[in-house]
Amino acid sequence: MDLMANVEDLKGIGPKTAEILKKFGIKTVRDFFYNLPRDYENFSRPSAIREIRPGKIVIKGKISDLSSRRAKKRNLSITEGVVRDSTGAIRVVWFNQSYRLHQFASDKEYYFTGVYELKNGRWQLTSPSAALASEVEITGGPSPVYVAHGGLKSGDFRRLMNASRDRFAGIPDLLPTVSSGVRRESLFKVHFPESSSDIQVGREYLAYEEIFELLFAARLNRRENEKLRAVLVPFEKERIQKFVGSLPFRLTNAQRRAAWEIFQDMEKNVPMNRLLQGDVGSGKTMVAALAAYEAVGDDGGGHRQVAILAPTAILAGQHYESIGPLLSRFGVRTALLTAATKKKAELKKQIAQGEVDIVIGTHAILTDDTEFSNLVLVIIDEQHRFGVEQRQKLMLKSPSGLSPHLLAMTATPIPRSLQLTVFGDLSVSILDELPAGRQPVTTQIMNELEMREKLYPLMLDIHGRAPDAKRHGEHARGQQIYWICKAIEEGTSEVTSVKKRAKMLCEMFPKLRVEFLHGKMKPLEKDAVMERFADGSIDILVSTTVVEVGVDVPNATLMIIENAETYGLAQLHQLRGRVGRGASEAFCVLLTSGDTAPTRRLREVEKSNDGFHLAEVDLKLRGPGEIYGALQHGALDLRIATLSDTRLIARAQKDVEKFLTNPENMVKYKELMANIQKYQQITTLN
Ligand code: ADP
Ligand code: MG
Repeated sequence: MDLMANVEDLKGIGPKTAEILKKFGIKTVRDFFYNLPRDYENFSRPSAIREIRPGKIVIKGKISDLSSRRAKKRNLSITEGVVRDSTGAIRVVWFNQSYRLHQFASDKEYYFTGVYELKNGRWQLTSPSAALASEVEITGGPSPVYVAHGGLKSGDFRRLMNASRDRFAGIPDLLPTVSSGVRRESLFKVHFPESSSDIQVGREYLAYEEIFELLFAARLNRRENEKLRAVLVPFEKERIQKFVGSLPFRLTNAQRRAAWEIFQDMEKNVPMNRLLQGDVGSGKTMVAALAAYEAVGDDGGGHRQVAILAPTAILAGQHYESIGPLLSRFGVRTALLTAATKKKAELKKQIAQGEVDIVIGTHAILTDDTEFSNLVLVIIDEQHRFGVEQRQKLMLKSPSGLSPHLLAMTATPIPRSLQLTVFGDLSVSILDELPAGRQPVTTQIMNELEMREKLYPLMLDIHGRAPDAKRHGEHARGQQIYWICKAIEEGTSEVTSVKKRAKMLCEMFPKLRVEFLHGKMKPLEKDAVMERFADGSIDILVSTTVVEVGVDVPNATLMIIENAETYGLAQLHQLRGRVGRGASEAFCVLLTSGDTAPTRRLREVEKSNDGFHLAEVDLKLRGPGEIYGALQHGALDLRIATLSDTRLIARAQKDVEKFLTNPENMVKYKELMANIQKYQQITTLN
């Protein structure tokens, strides 16, 4: 059977249905078979309504009293009804599914499957799926639930799948690494399970297949990368020792080790592809400075150049100010290039002529008219904020035929399993040690009701504490506070904006100096506010997440994140990293809206200060696509596999190696080669 044939090839799928399917990415016969059930229902044993317990339930009954209304605050439609069987009645509720209002015949019985729970003080069955009882064929096995697409409901997919039941036998093998027929049997089991173990067995193979493809793509990329060439940067021991000796502090052992690994990589004529992972405050910038200093070489180095990219102008500026002076003492010429840079054309000319050694900047470096004379190293801070395309742009700026060495830095650790799969060719250095004298940040979840009783007193307490003895801003009256808001202006949503919150805090604390900061302000305005915060002239800085990355104000010891439930784990951890950068005790308050119970995510952040642990949790809870910017384009929509399944990854890894030992496989397994193309685009840093 030709899996690549048009989906219309299948029984029951005419042009109209095919049109709908195409809109949702189901174009071929293969796509149709791989449109896997989202879930399964077991209709065989519905509970009597009188006996139901909280949790997932199945009931069978007639529905009446249907009504629909719009929720006042959120943009939401709520449809309610009452389901009765011979033992009792319960309320059912759907959100944004107003078609439910007209879906049911009042004299017919349906199965309802959903979660029975207490919401806002009332018991209800939330968003159940429904199936007409007379149409549900009770096989005793689980019944698949498909995601509805356009006018096609889950039941339509079941019906169509059933019509193609006999076609499964013709599905060819995809891989030689498992016994023949496993693929078609697995797909069949997943669509037509007789038991829950069928589902498990089928899904396990399909997960394996996905991981195999991903690993295979990464492996092929590595082969490609090994063919690239880069400028070899010889290690200059004495020069580096002098530089290290001039630093205002002793490097941590982790910093030394990371720098050493980088030097070794750059001593080869293949491009470095290294990720520097280190929790917030672990001193990545200094490692970057070391790498950059090494890369430019002394005057005999032929004017080698380095680009350091930061995600925001504020951060680029801070890097420039913190490492520029250290480097210029040794004759290295650094320049800052952001949107706000004056005399940009002139600076660009200097860069092109090799009169600048290290360029620190934002995306502005990536514009096409910035040319380098000899770019050998690119350092990307907070790598997850740059897309693949942007990285590729940089590669075009090196001497012809050569790729620059690449060092990506991130405080969002990439879990080991992702390193192996998605970034198969990545080397990783880890800063697992904070500079001496740091204290962990104490984190606490609070709801709005606790603001008055707990949060405001804490804020006054912080303000009453003596400024950080060693490195406080000169105008600081006490320790300083960040307050993070979701939105800039008051909009239709419920979240409090930066501007409104700043006003409220001014009224609440008339003696404190409150100011706000957000991404839509002009760069110069932003910088001015940030500078005043850094020198202690602001007590409370109300801001959007523009302060998220990298800004260093050691005297700020309290971070408050409003609407904390709306942020990802990595982002919360990153924001929290803005405090606890001095010697004083530091706090983070995760403020949730209303009186909602904290989510698992928030509790994890409250419990743990360990970015690596949080990254693993995030991967489990949200999947990789959400976490890593470059993966956000949907390319890594794994259907089944979870990238935290290390056992499966290990098995697939072994099989990929085996597969590669036979070059003929690359020709023979055409479908596999086609499947991995989408992964190949994302599995490399350069
Ligand atoms: P991050 O890893 O979050 O980017 P930074 O590079 O901004 O961390 O470093 C955080 C702070 O620690 C900076 O103020 C930096 O000067 C300081 N720092 C870096 N390395 C050391 C060290 N070895 N000892 C003491 N302080 C250090
Ligand atoms: Mg940093």
